[in-house]
Amino acid sequence: MFMNRRSKEQRTSGDDGFTVFQNGNGRNIERSSLLPSSSATPASAAGRFRGAMDNSAYPDDDDFDTDSEEESDVSGSAGDDTSWISWFCRLRGNEFFCEVDNEYIHDEFNLSGLSSQVPYYDYALDLIMDVESPNDDLFSEEQNEMVESAAEMLYGLIHVRYILTSKGMNAMLEKSKNVDFGRCPRMYCSGQPCLPMGQSDVSRTSTVKIYCPKCEDIYYPRSKYQGNIDGAYFGTTFPHLFLMTYPQVKPAKPTQSYVPRIFGFKLHKSAM
Ligand SMILES: [Zn+2]
Repeated sequence: MFMNRRSKEQRTSGDDGFTVFQNGNGRNIERSSLLPSSSATPASAAGRFRGAMDNSAYPDDDDFDTDSEEESDVSGSAGDDTSWISWFCRLRGNEFFCEVDNEYIHDEFNLSGLSSQVPYYDYALDLIMDVESPNDDLFSEEQNEMVESAAEMLYGLIHVRYILTSKGMNAMLEKSKNVDFGRCPRMYCSGQPCLPMGQSDVSRTSTVKIYCPKCEDIYYPRSKYQGNIDGAYFGTTFPHLFLMTYPQVKPAKPTQSYVPRIFGFKLHKSAM
C-alpha cells in the first residue's frame, strides 16, 4: 500500500464539499469542521460518525455554538514546529482532548490491541508521531484521507487510555480548571464546570457527553462540533476516577431544585 499523506497542493474548496487548509507544515488539513460557518456540517470529518451515533438527530443549532475564538487556529500560524498532536487538539470541536505525551505513545505496551482496531495502523501511528515515511509522496488523496481518519481514531483510542494515567489525568485537571469542557446547563448548578465522558467504551456507539459532578447527570456538549466526537475517546470511567483522584475538585451537592408552580401555588403530588 502506497500513500501520499502530504501532497503539496493547496485547495481552498474542493468539488466534494470538503475544504482543505494547509498549515505551516505543508500538511493538508481536510476538515470542513474548521469552517467558521455551519455550511459544511454534513461533510465534516467528525460528521461521518453522525449516522452511526445515538444522537444523530441532535440539532445543528448554531446558537449553541458560541466558541468562536477557536476559529483563529485554523490558519496554522503556530509555525512549522507544530506537532500533529498539538494541531489535532486545537481543531475546532477537539477542545476536550488533551495532548497525549509522546513518551506514552512510544511505549508499545500502552498501544497493545489497538493495531487490530484501527485500519492503516502503522501509517496512522507515523502520522500521529510526525514520522516522515519514504512512501509519503505515493499516497493518493483518497488514501491520504483514510490515513488521516485512521489517525484520528487511533489518537482517540490512545487518549481514552492516557487520561486514566496520572499524567493524563493531570493534563485533564488543567483543562478542567480552564473550563475547557464547558459548564452544566442546569441553573441550580450555578455554572459548575463539567467533565467529558462516553456512555460506552466501544467506539462509534455514542457521542461524547459532559458529566456534571454537582447534579451527577450528563448533558450534550454545547458545541455541535464537540457533539460529533466519539464518546469512546473519553470512556465511561474517566470522570469518576478523576473525581476520586482529585476529591478537592468534587463540588457539594446542589442545595436547590426547581419547584413547578401554577399561579404561584405548588402542585399537589396527585397533580404531577
Ligand atoms: Zn449540574
